Amino acid sequence: MADTIAATNPDLIFLRPVFHEKIWGGRELADRFGYDIPDGPVGECWGISAHPNGDCLVDGGEFEGSYLSDLWRDHHELFAGAEGDRFPLLIKILDARDNLSVQVHPDDAYAAEHENGSLGKRECWYVIDAKPGTQIIVGQRAKSREELAAMIADGRWDDMLNKVPIKAGDFFRIEPGTMHAIMGGTLILETQQSSDVTYRVYDFDRVQPDGTKRPLHIQQSLDVVDYDQIPPTSGEVTAPEADGVTELMSCPNFDVERVRVSGEKTLAQPWPFLCLSVIEGEGSARDGAGVEHAVKAGSHFLAPAGSGDVALSGEMMLICSHLPSNS
Ligand code: ZN
Repeated sequence: MADTIAATNPDLIFLRPVFHEKIWGGRELADRFGYDIPDGPVGECWGISAHPNGDCLVDGGEFEGSYLSDLWRDHHELFAGAEGDRFPLLIKILDARDNLSVQVHPDDAYAAEHENGSLGKRECWYVIDAKPGTQIIVGQRAKSREELAAMIADGRWDDMLNKVPIKAGDFFRIEPGTMHAIMGGTLILETQQSSDVTYRVYDFDRVQPDGTKRPLHIQQSLDVVDYDQIPPTSGEVTAPEADGVTELMSCPNFDVERVRVSGEKTLAQPWPFLCLSVIEGEGSARDGAGVEHAVKAGSHFLAPAGSGDVALSGEMMLICSHLPSNS
C-alpha cells in the first residue's frame, strides 16, 4: 500500500489571526506587528485558533479559505495522532494597555459539568514586552473558600492578590484555579487550552462605554480556586537554553518552548502538529518538501503531521508548542 502514501510532505499551514476588541486593549498589535486591526482598543490577536469564538482562516496554500476547524474535521491526517473532537490549543497575543479583570478558569472536569461540555483552561504567558514598573497578578492568598469570600465581600484586593513585577522574557504558568490578571503595560504571548471560559472576580469597578459593568462570577470563582497553591514571586526563566531552545513548560495539555534563531536552525517535527509564532525579528521557514516561506514577528503557522523537520533561518525569536510527548 506504499503507493497510496502522499508523495510529498504536507506544507506548513499559515493562519490569518482573528482580532478581538477589548476595553483594556491598545494599538500595539498594529504598531509592533503590522496587523490590520479594527479601529479602537484591540486587546487580543488569536493567532492559532479553531475555537468557535475566533476560528482562524488558512492563509494561502492548498487549504486557503478553510477554517482551522475544517481541517481538524475534514483533513485529520494533518494532525495524525491527535485525539479529541476539537483542535486543542489556542495561541494568542495580548496587548494590555489597561488592566484585564482579575479572573480564574476552571479545570476540564468543572467546565465539562458547568459550561456545556467546554474544556477547562490551563494557560501560560511569555512576556514579549512590558513597560518599566509593570506588575501582574498571579495567585491569591486566601487559604479557604470562606476567607476568600470575605476578602471579596470587603474588597480587600491588596491583601488578597499576589502581584509580581515583570520584564520581557519572563514566563508564567497559570494552572486552572489560579487567580490572575494581566496588568496595563504588558504585551504577552499566551498558550492555552482551546477554551473561552473565564470567571471574573474583580473588574476594578470599571464602567463600559454603554454605562454597564462587565458581569462578575463570584460563586463559580469560589468553586474553582485552588486554595493550596503557593503564589510565585518571579517569572524569571531559569531553564537553560540549549542550541537556541529553552523549555518553558511541560504539562498534561501542551509543551511550550522558546526558539531563538540566529542564522540557521532546524526543528524536528515528530508531533501530531507543531504551533509556531514569531514574536521578534524576521526570516524564513522551510517545510520538509522544501517550500520556503518568508516569516516575521506576528506570523503564526502550523507544521502538520508528516511535514518533516522545519528549517528556520534569519534572526528571530519564536514561541512553539505541541501536545505533550505522552499524549
Ligand atoms: Zn486567563
